[in-house]
Amino acid sequence: MLVTLNQIIEEGRKKKIAVGSFNTPNFECLLAVLEAAEELDVPVIIAHAQCHEGVAPLSQIGPVMVEMAKRSKVPVCVHLDHGEDFDYCKRAIELGFPSVMIDYSTREYEENVAGTKEVVDFAHAHGVSVEAELGALPQREGGEGAAAVDPTALYTKPELVPDYLARTGIDALAIAFGTAHGIYKTKPVLNMDIIGKVRALTDIPLVMHGGSGISHEEYREVIRRGIDKINYYSYMAYAGYAEAKRTAEAKESDFFHNMALNVKNAMKENAKGTMKVFAEK
Ligand SMILES: [Zn+2]
Repeated sequence: MLVTLNQIIEEGRKKKIAVGSFNTPNFECLLAVLEAAEELDVPVIIAHAQCHEGVAPLSQIGPVMVEMAKRSKVPVCVHLDHGEDFDYCKRAIELGFPSVMIDYSTREYEENVAGTKEVVDFAHAHGVSVEAELGALPQREGGEGAAAVDPTALYTKPELVPDYLARTGIDALAIAFGTAHGIYKTKPVLNMDIIGKVRALTDIPLVMHGGSGISHEEYREVIRRGIDKINYYSYMAYAGYAEAKRTAEAKESDFFHNMALNVKNAMKENAKGTMKVFAEK
């Protein structure tokens, strides 16, 4: 069933688990994530990122996501991931997304506050939740020059959190403490103290981005310290790629739909493995 962000976080907190948020830029991803969640009977968030507009336009994949969430046996929240402007968030809200993220984390603080507040005002008037980010993750997938950036300079500054929450009115806060988007080339160094410091200041749902590629123990630790929602995608997508390559090299079939089925199943297994870690007691 389709639920709000608050409802799904509440469900996660009751079960003392983190809720996984998975990007679903095509039908195979959608099936993989929803089947995995149903088989494990866990709540899940399916997300469309604005940077995937060229892979699947929001206007086309959005209604499919909402419809599949409604039909699911488990609670599913449909979320816009990394909205980059007001208009795109507005379009997701008009399609029935109960949750959107506006990401002005790379802007100056005052600009982040003002832009986020504008989205919050519109979203709340439509009963929709808003996630925003303070601090920033190192450059996105495969971004050149990421190594040149000192990641600690991008960490969330806990002292800004009370002012940011009071002035924006957001419903969930993404914090930066050492994870990155995409596939890690070197092992990430996480500053877990930031989670505890922010958690001590507020009860708001906290979100970790760049959830791929950190260790089992690190997942357990971030959840224990107060992370409610974990965004995960890159390693699931890579599992799909690896399976496509294997199927092609094994010459198992001449038809793409057979490869797509194998890919869906491989991504589903990957998603299940992750969901199990998030739901461990
Ligand atoms: Zn992210």
